[in-house]
Formats: sequence, C-alpha cells, structure tokens
Amino acid sequence: MSDLNNPIFQDADKAREWLEARLWKDGPVCAHCGTVGEATLMQGASHRPGLYQCNACREPFTVTVGTLYERSKIPLNKWLAATHLLLASKKGMSALQIGRMLGLSKKTAWFLCHRIRESLRPHGDAPKIGGEGKTVEADETYVGGKERNKHRSKRDRKNIGSVGKEAVFGLVERGGRVRSHHIPHVSAKTLRLGWGTVS
Ligand SMILES: [Zn+2]
Repeated sequence: MSDLNNPIFQDADKAREWLEARLWKDGPVCAHCGTVGEATLMQGASHRPGLYQCNACREPFTVTVGTLYERSKIPLNKWLAATHLLLASKKGMSALQIGRMLGLSKKTAWFLCHRIRESLRPHGDAPKIGGEGKTVEADETYVGGKERNKHRSKRDRKNIGSVGKEAVFGLVERGGRVRSHHIPHVSAKTLRLGWGTVS
C-alpha cells in the first residue's frame, strides 16, 4: 500500500507533530486539567520529544495521553500506520499481515491490532460519537469510498490524498471523546476500561 510512504507513517516525530496539529488546534491541551494553550515544551535530551508541562497544574503530558496510543513504547508512526491499514483495508487485515508490512514482531502486531480494534467497538455507556460537527465513523464511506466512487473528473484530489490520515484521525477523535477520563493503566488486558467506563 503506497499510502504507507506518508511521512506520518514513517517517522515518529512527524507522526507526533501531525497528531498535535489535529488534536491541539488552539495549542497544547493539558491532559490533566484541560487548560488550553498554556503549556511549556520541555526541552533537552532528558525529556521525551513532545513532552509538555502545564503552566496551570504543572503536570507533564504529551499528545497521546488519553488516546488509544498512550503508554506505549511502540513508535507512534507504527501505531498510525497500523490504524490506517486496519481502517483502509476493505477485506480486513490480520495482525500477522500488518506485522509483516510494518516490521513488527507477532506479539507487538497483535497488541496494536487488538487495541485499535477494541477502540473501534461501541462501548457501554460511552457518549455518542460524532457530535460537534465531527465525522468519526470509521466505515468505508468515511475512509474514502465517497471520493473514490465519484467520476474521475469530479474527484477532489485533496480528499483522496488525505484518506489514510483522515481515517486515523477519525479513530483518534473517537478516543478523544474520553480524554477527560482517567485511565490508570492501559494494557491488552485492561484497555476496554479506557473507553468510557472508567471515571
Ligand atoms: Zn494542567
């Protein structure tokens, strides 16, 4: 899939910058107290790239906190690529296939795919997804079927190019709905708790 050449699927910094631009339109949003645009980027080799400290509550955070990508040693670009592959593939793709395409071990690929699939499922009393003008349904239409089905001359090239990224963002937005929930620990065993059931 040539889409995988997109820098956000190749480079962890590019992936993070892309996610920040999408989730933080008005500046960094503190994952702890919700303050917007009042955080300081932590510089220096001892800090992870993209680590911010909130000027209001002094807590540290990165853009992945509260999303399905948090607390993972797997580079964010691999996460985005796996999400893209899972959402963009019409026939569905196995963890094994995705692992091969992205150069991940079986175990890692299974973990990624499991967490992504879990986040796509409707969860109990989670708030309805898609409010506030957000398009988040990760079905085929959303993933780009609409543009693809249009006559060639009527297609919007811009939309076609962004299909993979939009699909990934749809999933992130969906997770973003529960950003305010505290997620004590997310692992393959407990990740269901990350979506709407933890207060
Ligand atoms: Zn804060």
